[in-house]
Amino acid sequence: MKSYQPSTASHQSSVEEISAKSKTLLLKADSQLAHRNIPITIIGGGIHGVSIALRLLREAPTAARHLAILDRHPKPLTQWQRKTERQGMTFLRSPTVHHITPDALGIVEYAERHNRTSELAPPYAQPSTQLFWDFCNVVLAELMEHQVYYQFEVAKLRWDKGAGSFPFRLISTGNEGFRSRCVILAIGTDDCAYIPPEFIRWQRLYPDRILHASEFSVSEEFGTSPAKIVVVGGGLTAGTLARSLSEEGHDVALMARKPLRTEQFDFPPVWLGPKALAEFASEANFQRRYEIIQQNSGQGSITPDIMAALMEAPNIVLYPETCIHNIVEKKKYPSAQGLQIETTRNTITNVSRVILATGYQFNLHRYRFLKELITQHQVPLVRGLPRLDDDLQLHPIQDLFGSGTIAQLQIGPAAGNIAGASLAYERLREKLISHF
Ligand SMILES: Cc1cc2nc3c(=O)[nH]c(=O)nc-3n(C[C@H](O)[C@H](O)[C@H](O)COP(=O)(O)OP(=O)(O)OC[C@H]3O[C@@H](n4cnc5c(N)ncnc54)[C@H](O)[C@@H]3O)c2cc1C
Repeated sequence: MKSYQPSTASHQSSVEEISAKSKTLLLKADSQLAHRNIPITIIGGGIHGVSIALRLLREAPTAARHLAILDRHPKPLTQWQRKTERQGMTFLRSPTVHHITPDALGIVEYAERHNRTSELAPPYAQPSTQLFWDFCNVVLAELMEHQVYYQFEVAKLRWDKGAGSFPFRLISTGNEGFRSRCVILAIGTDDCAYIPPEFIRWQRLYPDRILHASEFSVSEEFGTSPAKIVVVGGGLTAGTLARSLSEEGHDVALMARKPLRTEQFDFPPVWLGPKALAEFASEANFQRRYEIIQQNSGQGSITPDIMAALMEAPNIVLYPETCIHNIVEKKKYPSAQGLQIETTRNTITNVSRVILATGYQFNLHRYRFLKELITQHQVPLVRGLPRLDDDLQLHPIQDLFGSGTIAQLQIGPAAGNIAGASLAYERLREKLISHF
């Protein structure tokens, strides 16, 4: 059993001091960039954008004069913090060596300094979510001191080919614009929540009660307590949500089309090594690359500790290999406002919520700010993913790069994970350094 211990008061106060300092260093908004020429712009201040910026700044501190990280949120890693909190995730899936800076032992040393090594779980020293977050906060203070982070939601990205040395034009939702020489898309997958086709009609009928996991928080009030909740999906998000909801006292049915699989990692670790990546790179057919990614990471699995918790919890029922074929409102008891879920196994009545932990399906077309750009320059896509070149450049647009899931067809199954950011940086660093 993993032991998670809350932070000590003294540790907490040091993190708070740093966070307060970060806040005062936050650059305010899009207007501060107006009409400037910025050599390197990273769109996205999530795990990938921040990791790349930190790696670059540690390697070349003068990069701070040449760099801007843009995000729609006022603070970096907002999405990460929000998602992990809303799911009630207590431990990371990945080992402690994968985080947002290049020093592999950063979290371990931080844990040792603060007497928090009990928050590194066996067998791979996965950090508790709180430990990871506290470590990130300390590192973010370093980023903030460089004053490179801007709250700026990109409404449009244009590439004026041949228009001097700053061919990209970025326009914010507030209609402020600036130019850049090189742009990295570190935009995550949030705009690509996947709703299985059969759920679209039911979700239209009951939009407040059938929600994608990204719209849902385990701390939500349901009116009745305990509530009956159906979680759909066979991956770690489904498992974590089911466990957290059961701990809140609710009755949970976890339903997956396929048998439930238990794996510590969401892709085989060989995908972090040179051999698998070299073989992947030698595959010239990008459609085949897509299939390799699906075979290695597309199935969804649950970590052993979460699976054990699901099996032990008295208020969770697991339904592997089960499909939902109808959802109706149980009109007989309108006061209860319960949904009736008809499955290939049974019928579950009086359900308060159906949570679709059905993941994300990346498609560049879903990012409105890129629509015109990819159409105008005919960026080739394979199942929604761009065919990046070896340097992670979005062919045919020069000096437009991608990191995160967007880079899957080059980086492989690890692309969207934390480790994918360091793999991406290795490919990007020379090009980036050449821009200042
Ligand atoms: C609950 C959860 C747990 C996970 N646990 C692990 C784990 O243990 N180990 C692991 O390796 N991976 C894990 N992952 C997977 C992965 O590491 C995370 O999803 C990670 O957040 C991906 O980072 P990212 O930077 O690609 O995307 P994000 O963190 O989503 O960041 C993208 C950023 O881009 C910004 N953005 C997008 N469009 C625009 C725009 N037009 N203008 C301005 N800003 C924009 C968004 O606001 C966002 O902040 C987990 C994922 C989730 C959801």
